[in-house]
Amino acid sequence: MHLKIAVLPGDYIGPEVMAATLPVLEACLKKAGHTLEHSTHEVGGAGIDRYGKALPDSTLAACQAADAILFGSVGGPKWEKLPPKEQPERASLLPLRKHFKLYANVRPGLLLKNLIDTSPLRPDRIPQGVDMVCIRELTGGLYFGAKSTQEIAGGDIEAIDTMVYRKSEIERITDVAIATARARRKHLTLVDKANVLETSVLWRKVVGERVKATAPDITLTHMYIDNAAMQLVLRPSQFDVLLTENMFGDILSDEMAVICGSLGMMASASLGLDLNRHGKGYGLYEPSGGTAPDIAGQDKANPCAQILSAALMLRHSFGLEAEAKSIERAVEQTIAAGIRTADIAGGGPAVGTRAMGAAILARL
Ligand code: NAD
Repeated sequence: MHLKIAVLPGDYIGPEVMAATLPVLEACLKKAGHTLEHSTHEVGGAGIDRYGKALPDSTLAACQAADAILFGSVGGPKWEKLPPKEQPERASLLPLRKHFKLYANVRPGLLLKNLIDTSPLRPDRIPQGVDMVCIRELTGGLYFGAKSTQEIAGGDIEAIDTMVYRKSEIERITDVAIATARARRKHLTLVDKANVLETSVLWRKVVGERVKATAPDITLTHMYIDNAAMQLVLRPSQFDVLLTENMFGDILSDEMAVICGSLGMMASASLGLDLNRHGKGYGLYEPSGGTAPDIAGQDKANPCAQILSAALMLRHSFGLEAEAKSIERAVEQTIAAGIRTADIAGGGPAVGTRAMGAAILARL
């Protein structure tokens, strides 16, 4: 297979972790007989500095010509004084989500058994580590509904956000969740607030019918959002695949990330409606964390989140499951061998970004 990807490293640690990732991706694909064509483009603060735009036209054109986007992270103190609309994250990631109709956010919550100490949870709560996936609807709900703020009678002020979901939106994200669960432990938990919200009632109905009609092999459990927030810290191992709407997913996926230890380990995928040249979903793949300006330029950043994002890209945008697994295994083996960056070393000896990348590459 010939894979064509647009590489957008971004700012601060973005280029550092991307430099450690590309050799791993290249080696993995070469070993399996595939060819990789990639070109690198400015985005975020780097785009603003060079072209005066967080998402330069040339970058968007390169993304359009590719099968998938491998994204680093954007933003940082250098551009913080810009007006909100011009902020690197808002002016690059949101337009990319909109342009490529990235409706499904897939975030694995993986805490390897030998990294349990990096979690803020007590070890006895997570004896086997954590291994779950959060699937969040990304283009509907409160964040995209009609909004307004106005003065009303008596000099009071009223602000309105609207939460809208359509059956078709719920069906398509349910299909992503079903496919994800099917490749794992076949247990899907739908998180909603069906005791209060009309949209949640629709979610329950549509997800229930979809699973019954297309996935009798999947066990579906329902959980209210308030209970899910508690259960996630009490017993995260009960979750396999968690499916939820945009705002609940925004909050729960961050809660999941924090119990899984370092942001340096957390990959994510945003899947689009359009298909690429290989007939698979177009997608944007990025670490869950930001640009970590506090450690940038010091060879300290953990490249695992970026490397694992590349594995997600192989899985979701190219259907290369075995290749994705080989990268994930190489990361696990490297960590099991005690080779760790500072964020996951628990105060013990640590290696730098480059050495971590090289160690993972060696294990491929
Ligand atoms: P951050 O995620 O960059 O950093 C939070 C903490 O996690 C820091 O202590 C950092 O050192 C650590 N960390 C993050 N990634 C790490 C890695 N790979 N290895 C080791 N440690 C890592 O969050 P922040 O400090 O709130 O944000 C910094 C900048 O990043 C801001 O400008 C923010 O807007 C931007 N940001 C961008 C994205 C994105 O591009 N998708 C996401 C979140 C934040």
